[in-house]
Parts: sequence; C-alpha cells; structure tokens
Amino acid sequence: MRPPFRLLVLPGDGIGVEVTDAALRIVEWFMPRLGVEVAIEHGLVGGAAIDAHGVPITDAVVARAMAADAVLFGAVGGPRWDALPIARRPEAGILRLRRDLDLFANVRPAFCFDALVDRSSLKPELVRGLDLVIVREATAGVYFGQPRGEETLPDGTVRVIDTQAYTADEVRRVAAFAIDLARGRSGRLCSVDKANVMETGRLWRHTVAAAAASHPDIALSHMYADNCAMQLVRQPRQFDVIVTDNLFGDILSDAAAMLTGSLGMLPSASIGPLVGGRRRALYEPVHGSAPDIAGRGIANPLAAILSFGMALRFSFGDEAAARRLEAAVAHVLATGLRTADLADAGDAAVSCARMTRAVLDALDRGAASDAPDALLAEA
Ligand code: NAD
Repeated sequence: MRPPFRLLVLPGDGIGVEVTDAALRIVEWFMPRLGVEVAIEHGLVGGAAIDAHGVPITDAVVARAMAADAVLFGAVGGPRWDALPIARRPEAGILRLRRDLDLFANVRPAFCFDALVDRSSLKPELVRGLDLVIVREATAGVYFGQPRGEETLPDGTVRVIDTQAYTADEVRRVAAFAIDLARGRSGRLCSVDKANVMETGRLWRHTVAAAAASHPDIALSHMYADNCAMQLVRQPRQFDVIVTDNLFGDILSDAAAMLTGSLGMLPSASIGPLVGGRRRALYEPVHGSAPDIAGRGIANPLAAILSFGMALRFSFGDEAAARRLEAAVAHVLATGLRTADLADAGDAAVSCARMTRAVLDALDRGAASDAPDALLAEA
C-alpha cells in the first residue's frame, strides 16, 4: 500500500492563520479525490512559536518539515515581535526552513485571471492571457556569497562587500528543474543573467545552455537581466518560463507580480532536492501576515488556495487537480466576487470565509460536470 502523503501545515501569524485555514478547507475537498491518503500535521512557526517556545521555529518542527512530503505555510511576523533581535524574530522561522530544507528553486507564477485584467498596472491588452513562471535560484548567489561584511581601510574609509558566487552544480540543479517545468508547458525557457558584465553570468549562461543541450524539446533563449526587466513591462506575454539567479529573480518576480493585480492573488512554491525519491517542497502565498487587517476575516484567501494548487501540481503530481482548482478560482472571479483588496471603491466586498465557500461551491459544480473548463464557459 502507498504510504500516506504527509502534509505539514504551518499557519504562522496574522492573516497567515486565516488564509491557511481557508486553504485547508480546499485540501479537505480534494482529500478523497487524490488517490492517496493525506495525513495532515500541524505546527507552530513565527510569532506563534516564539510565544509558545521562545524560538521562531523548534528543531522538532524543522525535523517534521524535513520528513513531510510538502509544507503548507501561511505567513509570519507582526508588530508584537518587531523589537526582538533579527535572529529571534518570526521571519527567522521561514528563513531557517528554506535553508535547512535546501529549497533552492523558488517558483512564482504570474498568471492574469481574465476577470482581473483591469487591476494590472499595465494596459489590459498587454496582460490578458498572461501566464508566465519565474524560477529563481534561492539558496546561493549574492545573498549568501562570502566574503561579506564591512571593513575600515587604513585611511579610515569604510568598505562594504557582498559577493556574488555560484558553483556550476548550483546552477545546474535549478536549470534542470526549470527545464522540467518548461517541458510540461510550452517548452520555451528564457535564462536571464548578466553574462556581458559578470563572471557568474557567464557561468550561468553556459551551464544552463549545456543542461538544455540534451533536451531538444526545449527552446532555450538567453536575455540580459536589465532587458528582461524592460521586456516584462513592455510585452510580458513573450515569456513562458524564466530561470534566473537569486538577486535578479528577487527583483524580476516582484515586478512580474504587479502585472497581475493584487498581492492577495500570488502563490509560490519553494522546491528542494530529491531525497529518498521525494522532493522537499514548501508552498506559501507571497504576501506577509498583514497585521493591518489580521483578525477581521477580510483577507483574500486565493493566494494561499492557489499555493495549494501548486502543491497539487508539483508534490502530488496531479496536474488535472491543479487545473480544476485554478478553473474554480477563475470561475469565482468571473462571477464578480471580490475580497476587499480586489474590490473597487464603493463595491461590496466579501469575507475570506465567503470567498472560500464560493471556491468550494465552484469545485462541487466542476466535479459534478467533471469538466472544470465548463465552469469558465458558464461564467
Ligand atoms: P504584507 O504582505 O503583510 O501586507 C502588505 C499590504 O498588503 C497590507 O496592506 C495588507 O493588508 C495587504 N495584503 C497582503 N496580503 C493580503 C491578502 N491576502 N488579502 C488582502 N490584503 C492583503 O506585507 P508587510 O505589511 O510589509 O508585512 C507585514 C508582516 O509580514 C511583517 O512582519 C513582515 O515581516 C511579514 N512578512 C512575512 C512574509 C512571510 O511570512 N513569508 C512575507 C512578507 C512579509
């Protein structure tokens, strides 16, 4: 018999708790339909863990995350814990998970739902149909390179150093992940670097090219990061999958995010290495714990719900289920339902719970028709 799929749920703080609760309702809907038993475990992270145990994450929770098939994460942080030293703040909990689980590929889709084209900062005709994914290398590069730090030169000048460093293996593994991802989509992969001015850029370019060379079904192109920034706001639909380093990916994925509307709509996946036939992975909305709206029941749950959609795709390997969920969300948006972050001034906004209920209803109707696309036609 197949062992159960172990899903560790870490809601965190603020609206992390509210949107994770919403995502769990969706998990429960899918559980009897996935062909595998799902064992849900719960844990504390962030401020909640500090309050209970004095640390932003305990060793025991990290060990459970290492053993899990996937982690569903909410968000951490809040003013209550802002005065703590950086290493003991809630955010240290997610940083430790990313490091200990070696989550080297951060995957951020920028998908523009038809019903939200008017919320983009670009003209609707540029973003209608937009569906791209940025794969960012997330465990190496300039945020981790040594040496780093500050020194005072003999003449009293203060000099500060960050080091951009990559090994070929670090590039190769994220390239391999991006190639696989591109294969499941259109086969187009754009590798982004600064090979014209950086040594790491040259290594990046030839390592990605070598990785793609043995995959004739992949159409690989290369682009300089500055041009990519420009192209993302000029003609974003030219992209399908983008793979890039930690620094460029950090910046370009935030720029791409704004093409699609609200922070409350953005899911993400952080993917680690294959260990014992399982790929470590953590799924979380891009947004934070939003202390300004926490506890009011008005947070948009869709980023968290769509993050579980990414888990269906990458950890359960169930593309049909992922599409069914995305079609249900598209349907709900097409009916005009909006949480406060998506509503125009003067329009009525629905609660987090109401939006979640609507997604469940749409799933029920899609399940009844057994053709999720029918929902879209109906809307
Ligand atoms: P934030 O993402 O929490 O909020 C930014 C703005 O967007 C706020 O006005 C908020 O109300 C709104 N917003 C965010 N998500 C929303 C949603 N789902 N529905 C409706 N509105 C939403 O960013 P911030 O205010 O800069 O940070 C707040 C706290 O979150 C800080 O402690 C920060 O460190 C933490 N944070 C955590 C993570 C994480 O856990 N991965 C990420 C970012 C920020």
